[in-house]
Amino acid sequence: MKELVIISGKGGTGKTSVAASFAILADRPVIADCDVDAADLHLVLAPSIRERHEFRSGREARIRPDACRRCGACAESCRFGAIVPDDRAGKVRLGDVAASFATGPAGIALRVDPFSCEGCGVCQLVCPAGAIDLLERTCGEWMISDTRCGPMVHARLGVGGENSGKLVSIVRREARRIAEESGRTTIVVDGPPGLGCPVIASIGGASLVLVVTEPTVSGAHDLARVLSLTRHFAVPAMVCVNRWDLNPEMTERIGAEAREAGARVAGRIRYDRAVTLAQMQETAVAESNSPAATDIRRVWANLEV
Ligand code: SF4
Ligand code: SF4
Repeated sequence: MKELVIISGKGGTGKTSVAASFAILADRPVIADCDVDAADLHLVLAPSIRERHEFRSGREARIRPDACRRCGACAESCRFGAIVPDDRAGKVRLGDVAASFATGPAGIALRVDPFSCEGCGVCQLVCPAGAIDLLERTCGEWMISDTRCGPMVHARLGVGGENSGKLVSIVRREARRIAEESGRTTIVVDGPPGLGCPVIASIGGASLVLVVTEPTVSGAHDLARVLSLTRHFAVPAMVCVNRWDLNPEMTERIGAEAREAGARVAGRIRYDRAVTLAQMQETAVAESNSPAATDIRRVWANLEV
């Protein structure tokens, strides 16, 4: 089984347009959208969802109001300011909230603000009434869908949901399982941009990483950082310069630097309004007869996956 991961040093390089086109060009692929922070492959591939699963990660505190003695110890101990007056449904009068700032939180109803809670558990330790539970936090969901190219695994992070790479690992794991069970031999992964945990979770053990970059100073700088990451994890890497004709000199420099860093150059994609048009029509560039589509097909043919 071959797993091709398309990543970029930063957002906005055209990574997802390239990934969507590869999903179209690949022979019976499984598709994985690991850019879970800003998932948008679904906008092009129009998945029809057949399975949804909750994504849980970390913990969050919850106060049981019936057991709480309103002593305020939890609010005083929380270093994250996550325990706040419970002003929902009129349980606390405005005067109580004002008093809590003036005299401390004792005597008033409290609740945990889920966006501030780090799940450290200190409040549970100090609570004399055992009124605090630490519950698994629901951070989003992951889905298995059908698309016109094949099965797709994708995810959606909830508001404030943490992306430590765990959700990315789940999406990859499921894509591999589906590929094994359905006898498909290619997985096309739209990876996250940047260098953080989600990227590391996306590339480890991949057959090939394609880095999509742009011919700018920041593009060259980010590419160097991404290639140091692929080298560190011993993953073969190739490079593609998108909109190369906007700065041919910089494209040459990027090609030379990529080779110096041990990566091969898969090709270039010219600037083409057909890419924007394809996005507006929610289609992949490779589904058109545009010059950019020709370039993308050439890059696909050059991939040594
Ligand atoms: S678990 Fe930690 S961060 Fe969350 S409310 Fe309790 S003390 Fe604060
Ligand atoms: S420490 Fe426990 S009893 Fe005291 S206010 Fe907090 S939840 Fe209520």
